Amino acid sequence: MTGPSDWVPAGIDVNRPSAARVYDYFLGGAHNFAVDRALAEQIAAMTPNIGETMRSNRVFLRRAVRYLVGEGIRQFLDIGSGIPTAGNVHEIALEAAPDATVVYVDIDPVAVEHSRAILAGVDRAGVICADVRDVERVLAESEKLALIDFSRPVAVLLAGVLHFVPDGDRPAEIVASLREAMAPGSYLLVSHATADGQPPEVIEAQRLSSRTATEIVLRTRAGIAAYFDGFSLVEPGLVFIPQWRPEPQDPVDEHPEQVGAYAGVGRKD
Ligand code: SAM
Repeated sequence: MTGPSDWVPAGIDVNRPSAARVYDYFLGGAHNFAVDRALAEQIAAMTPNIGETMRSNRVFLRRAVRYLVGEGIRQFLDIGSGIPTAGNVHEIALEAAPDATVVYVDIDPVAVEHSRAILAGVDRAGVICADVRDVERVLAESEKLALIDFSRPVAVLLAGVLHFVPDGDRPAEIVASLREAMAPGSYLLVSHATADGQPPEVIEAQRLSSRTATEIVLRTRAGIAAYFDGFSLVEPGLVFIPQWRPEPQDPVDEHPEQVGAYAGVGRKD
């Protein structure tokens, strides 16, 4: 699929790779262009674990949504939601709790249009095109959909998105603004790429690759833990993705650090 087709929204530049479509390619999806696949292959050649990292992140997200439903959460704000693939947040949440609601937010119009198509006829989930850096707009648009009531507990999901926010855009302040809007009993979920535990060649490759794509900022465990200020991390804390409450079908091998990303869930008390 190299050019515009019926799923390509008007105005999309098919000659510029996007993070959402590169991710879709790694997950085996069909919503990507030649330019995305070329970049994905280039990244994969330099960082062989990347596909595993993305799949592992997706599996973590599903486990965590089931956990959150178990904790009584019925509202989900999934920011940087990407192109929906099988086992989306609304599918997992609604399967576990038919009264759940989900709002998806993404900056990429392809991801948003495709989400809209998938959600046609699903009245408990909606999607908006917005930038996580514009928290006020994300909150206002979410409220307009009448799917999230911020006076009640909500889970804000920031899976694989904060590493696209450079330090200069003050990601910790973005998360703090979200926290202020969240009622006590709400949860924050973060998964985030890191250089911790990575061999030097992977770090160098990621540094080079970030010049060619949407910049990825690798942060340390302490840097990522700072997003949980004002939240209490639930067990097992901030860990390499495969270590977060693995289920029997998600075996953790002896090198969980190889995924190069941390995951955690915190509760606002
Ligand atoms: N959350 C999904 C998951 O974990 O499976 C998808 C993660 S994907 C790696 C990152 C997504 O974040 C992409 O769809 C990208 O378009 C989106 N994104 C990147 N920067 C963003 C921003 N500033 N605001 C909102 N979304 C953003």
